[in-house]
Amino acid sequence: MNIENHDLSLCITPDEHVFQAKDTVRFSGVCESVDLHLGNRCTLQKAYTKNGETPFEVVHTHRHTTVYRFQNLNSDSLTLEYDGLFDRFKGYGVCTIHKHCVELSGFGFFFPTIEENSQFERFTYSLEVSLPKSWRVVAPDDRDIQDVPLNERRFHYQKHKIEDILICAAPDYQRHYRKNMTMILPNLEAPVAKSMLKDFEHSVDVCAETFGELRSGMTTTGIVSPRGEGSQEWGYERGHLWVIGDLFLQYACAHEWRFGGLKKSLALHETIHSWIGIGVSMPIYLAEAITQYCEVVLTHKIYQEDDLDRRYFAWYEKRLLETLKEKDLPPASLKVTDDHYAFWYLKGSLAFYDLEKRVGRDSLLAAFKDLYQNHHGTFLDEDAVRVALERSLDLPLKDFFNHWMHSTGYEPLH
Ligand SMILES: [Zn+2]
Repeated sequence: MNIENHDLSLCITPDEHVFQAKDTVRFSGVCESVDLHLGNRCTLQKAYTKNGETPFEVVHTHRHTTVYRFQNLNSDSLTLEYDGLFDRFKGYGVCTIHKHCVELSGFGFFFPTIEENSQFERFTYSLEVSLPKSWRVVAPDDRDIQDVPLNERRFHYQKHKIEDILICAAPDYQRHYRKNMTMILPNLEAPVAKSMLKDFEHSVDVCAETFGELRSGMTTTGIVSPRGEGSQEWGYERGHLWVIGDLFLQYACAHEWRFGGLKKSLALHETIHSWIGIGVSMPIYLAEAITQYCEVVLTHKIYQEDDLDRRYFAWYEKRLLETLKEKDLPPASLKVTDDHYAFWYLKGSLAFYDLEKRVGRDSLLAAFKDLYQNHHGTFLDEDAVRVALERSLDLPLKDFFNHWMHSTGYEPLH
């Protein structure tokens, strides 16, 4: 049994940090009974089918979700009414409602799904968002949304990853376009805004230069979001959307865009994803491995600083080795809900740094360009990515993938 469609309406009240949701879930057939995960920050109030109100019980509580059981449904759809009280940032799955900014994302951890780890579930959805007057919805993949009247219904009928749902932002935001990409900035001091736009511009240009121009229909939206006094919240990414906290950006500006002594772009990683990971879709551990590798080498390319790439990879290696003392798992075996950073991003990028030693950086980047040019708009599994790279590099890579993605430990091959 799958969820085919969500017909979701959200009413958001920023001043009170609450939202109310009414979500009609349509299943792939007539459903007798089903267990649905609902994020722990939502509370289910009521459930019904065409036949009337239906009882439910809580059967499990996981780290992120509570499992509700529905029995004797005998229906192909189920309507759920739930509400949520959000004022905190919780890393991967994000639903924050500030007085001056609302962000909803990471649907899998919050909205009814069949799988707990369902960030990559796909379904069609229609969405209606009700916001206070003069607020507007910011959504990915939809440049025209700026022209939509305020408070308007938004409907999306395409198959979407559930992570790509929406962001709602305050009305005083300004949009800046760079090719297909949008950067949304709140009222920032002029030098801070200028600095962010420059970073964004560099990121889009270096990606286009490296992987080729972005195909039409592929978009990314980046947003700088207010985070509030004393906040540790710095940002996150969800599919076509990414967010940087204004405090993180202020820090970057105050420190010449250096973190731990290393020059860093705030826009580059997510911008690369428009080509790698979203432009051409693939298992997430691979998407992050390639993207993180490209982030380092393209940061190096933008800033032209001696040794920047080598210093990044040395730092990654040190952090990975520290993690390995505690925990060591093959990157491909981890789920989104696991603690995966060291394995997908650090070990993953070091894998491609290792491959670079064998084939050279230009050839490796050219192979990623081929990957995008030949396969954009499609999903490739690991074998298909391997075959594509083997063709571009004229090199067998089975051992490479087994060694880096399916084995534990850290041991460069080259
Ligand atoms: Zn990423």
